[in-house]
Amino acid sequence: MTLEQTLPICIAGHWRLGHGERYASRYPATGEPVAWLNAANLNDVEEAVQGAHQAFLHSGWAQRKPHERASVLYRIAALIRERGEELAQLQRQDNGKPIGETRALVASAAGTFQFFAAACETLEETITPSRGDFVTMSVYEPMGVVAAITPWNSPIASEAQKVAPALAAGNAVVIKPAEITPLLALQLARICEDAGLPKGLVSVLPGKGSVLGDALVQHPLIKRVSFTGGTRTGKHIAHIAAEKMMPVSLELGGKSPTIVLDDADLDHAVAGVLYGIFSSSGEACIAGSRLFVARSLYEPFMERLVAGAATLRLGDPADETTQMGPLISASHRESVERYVALGLAEGGTVRLGGQRPVGGIYDNGYFFPPTIIEGLTNSQQTCQEEIFGPVLVAMPFDDEAELIEQANDSLYALAAGIWTGDYKRAWALGRKIQAGTVWINTYKQFSISTPFGGWRDSGLGREKGRLGIVQYMEQKSLYWGMNEQPLAWASGHQGVAS
Ligand code: NAD
Repeated sequence: MTLEQTLPICIAGHWRLGHGERYASRYPATGEPVAWLNAANLNDVEEAVQGAHQAFLHSGWAQRKPHERASVLYRIAALIRERGEELAQLQRQDNGKPIGETRALVASAAGTFQFFAAACETLEETITPSRGDFVTMSVYEPMGVVAAITPWNSPIASEAQKVAPALAAGNAVVIKPAEITPLLALQLARICEDAGLPKGLVSVLPGKGSVLGDALVQHPLIKRVSFTGGTRTGKHIAHIAAEKMMPVSLELGGKSPTIVLDDADLDHAVAGVLYGIFSSSGEACIAGSRLFVARSLYEPFMERLVAGAATLRLGDPADETTQMGPLISASHRESVERYVALGLAEGGTVRLGGQRPVGGIYDNGYFFPPTIIEGLTNSQQTCQEEIFGPVLVAMPFDDEAELIEQANDSLYALAAGIWTGDYKRAWALGRKIQAGTVWINTYKQFSISTPFGGWRDSGLGREKGRLGIVQYMEQKSLYWGMNEQPLAWASGHQGVAS
């Protein structure tokens, strides 16, 4: 396939051109097109959902034994690994992340399929304690067609987190990737097919979320939505879901506090804070974007942090040594710049960065340097809103009560980090911080075996974990009558089990 050709998309088991507008996925490091494709249109949404429904009803996937479904998921994991380098390079171009990072995301996607294959073949249904002349069981059924809607910041890993448990549970899936990063979702659909998944069980709809995503969520045959993206979009989806009485999981934004206590190991804390905010160029829902440092330590800590941030390598994503690539798009960089200007207008000072770099590769790509802003208070807008870029706001704190109040004073509650040498302090603080994930003396580490999700405006529901598969199933209780006699009520003998 040459660059001039238009990439087919995967609709209901057919690889064909989308019926929407032609557009390009562009390499954020240069602005050059990586691939051209036609977006899906509303007819494609209909065809994808109907095709998925038919595949769910007639392909036999839902009826296969769990270990049989698992064997296909293991093959998907193996194929992702086999094509790992090709996928990582494609993702680098689609999204602009440094190659080291895209390799890790591809490996994570393979691990996710492997994990849910194992979860699938070991999921136990239960016989519950009997409270009458009957045997009671709790079992699970697949739901039908589920929608997986994903953002642009971690393609393939985000899709895998939804597609793997959804397929493991016996469902069909329609993926709506972010408009600007469609390539890895298409590759994943190809891999699913190559691994022997029945056709039609996975479709991919590249294009505008406000049109295609919306139609997908509203579609009566969509029985569940798993969404990762911005809080505003998530709330919109939640409204539609409420009308349909449809379960949703929403993985949304964050403004996560990272806390450095006065007894922290500074080498660890500096490295962790740098990684927490500046890896992925800050385009991470869990970015540790609000820093609280004990006042007694504030200046020496900041000197080391600023020195460390100044040496981070911002540049060519293809270079193995690059730590930060460009931002996703020109418009997103402008949004990050507006937040830096807001921080200044609110009375903050820029201690590092703050202006786009110039010269060489920087002139065409959407690069933005590590930026640290000081002199703000937690209630100001710059400290409350998600910037989704490499911008850290740093604040000193005096006592732990005040710290907890400020750390929790946010609409978001996705993640938090605590750096301390005292495990008892870490325990006490870790239990009081409101967040879906708290990292203690580490940051931004992930495990597919551990549930993930947010509180408040950071989301609803959980992904990952062994029971992640159950989120894509309907629970059903079965009662098996064991009475020797007809039910007593009919013959006038009352009796109610409880
Ligand atoms: P976004 O909300 O704009 O888009 C996310 C997805 O939703 C895209 O596929 C988009 O096309 C689709 N979409 C847009 N409007 C829609 C609608 N009306 N109905 C249905 N779908 C619609 O988010 P984004 O800019 O792509 O991603 C950045 C956001 O994602 C950030 O806020 C970030 O914090 C969040 N995020 C959260 C997590 C998490 O796990 N909590 C992980 C990664 C990113």
